[in-house]
Amino acid sequence: MGYHIKQFEQGEIIFHGGDSSDCAYIIEKGQVEIFAESNDTIIDILNEGELFGEMGVLDQSPRSTSARAITPVVLLEVKTEQITNRLAESDAIVKALVGVLLKRFRSLLPSQGMTAKNSNLLNQVESVVEQTGLSKFKLESELRTAINNGDIQTVYQPIQEIQKNQIAGFEALSRWSHPERGFISPVEFIALAEETDLIIEVGELVFSRAIELLSVLPDHVFININVSAKQLDDNQFLQRVVAKVKQHGIQPNRLKLEITETMVVDFKKARHWIKKCKEIGFLVCADDFGTGHSGMEQLLELDFDVLKVDQVFVRNMFKSERYQIIIESIASMAQRLETKLVAEGVEYDQQLEVLQALGFNFGQGYLFGKPMSLEDVMKLF
Ligand code: C2E
Ligand code: CA
Ligand code: CA
Repeated sequence: MGYHIKQFEQGEIIFHGGDSSDCAYIIEKGQVEIFAESNDTIIDILNEGELFGEMGVLDQSPRSTSARAITPVVLLEVKTEQITNRLAESDAIVKALVGVLLKRFRSLLPSQGMTAKNSNLLNQVESVVEQTGLSKFKLESELRTAINNGDIQTVYQPIQEIQKNQIAGFEALSRWSHPERGFISPVEFIALAEETDLIIEVGELVFSRAIELLSVLPDHVFININVSAKQLDDNQFLQRVVAKVKQHGIQPNRLKLEITETMVVDFKKARHWIKKCKEIGFLVCADDFGTGHSGMEQLLELDFDVLKVDQVFVRNMFKSERYQIIIESIASMAQRLETKLVAEGVEYDQQLEVLQALGFNFGQGYLFGKPMSLEDVMKLF
């Protein structure tokens, strides 16, 4: 695809209104004037580093204005595919917004007797708004309402101390039962919440409920909570959690915060979060450990209290020797690093036996219990 350089003399036309839009330009050197040829009005004067000619590329319509070099000019060509590929890969809402803005902006331009006729992308964008974009917007509003109405439930999955065969704690998991769509997976609605600040509110719900539950459970029982980057970046969020912990007289080390690798792209930031949590007294777990790309680096750089080994290892431990070897190595590393180990996705006795032999501290999975309601948790104690 590559970049191309184009040069124009002072006064030379770069493109005329009505020409086909085969690329956009970034100004490397010089000054460019965007103007309407019909009445010779200047629309804009652009300098080094600025982008122009992108509008026709975006909606595949002819140039709606003309462009002229007002000094000698060097331009860097940006190919249509470079723009349309990016847009095609972008979030539905971003596409929708670009489409709407483009339409609005065009309506403000001095008319040159032409419209975006073959506006493929614009049509595409409009249908995307209708399908994905709008439904996503709608779901987001419904999620907001659900949070306010208390329709986001919290369930608790047991975490078993496998050397003693007793429940040691729970992982709090969010549930949303939508009035029309039924059960919506947290994978879907948490991702949506993370795109906005709604995750702060979801998190606040989960923490409040977990802290209240801890205050009525025996002192040795802990609760794990999934946190996302936005929550840990928000100092006030953590302060509110700390206030609730104090208010209920809970030992902070009964709360364990689960962080996934996708959040740990920036080790400096992750170290800062972990330090902050530990200062408060919370314990910190690496969630879904072993699946990403930075497992070793995480162990080197970050001081986790607990590693939660991802479900794929337990699921495949009898199917593939490779999984077995890796899980054994994780176990021996964790012991030497004095990091506690949780195995996720334990479903069968045979799996449990191997994990016990490898020295895992905890197990979580359907063998010990599915996520359960508050009432069912209370019945266990
Ligand atoms: P996760 O943190 O890895 O949570 C474990 C998931 O595995 C849960 O799915 C749980 O129901 C499921 N699971 C537990 N034991 C077994 C088993 O033995 N076999 C199988 N096949 N699955 C098992 P769930 O509840 O659908 O949650 C999915 C993900 O959504 C969670 O993955 C977590 O990343 C996220 N999530 C859920 N609630 C919250 C929340 O309140 N806040 C945040 N930030 N994320 C949440
Ligand atoms: Ca988790
Ligand atoms: Ca997990």
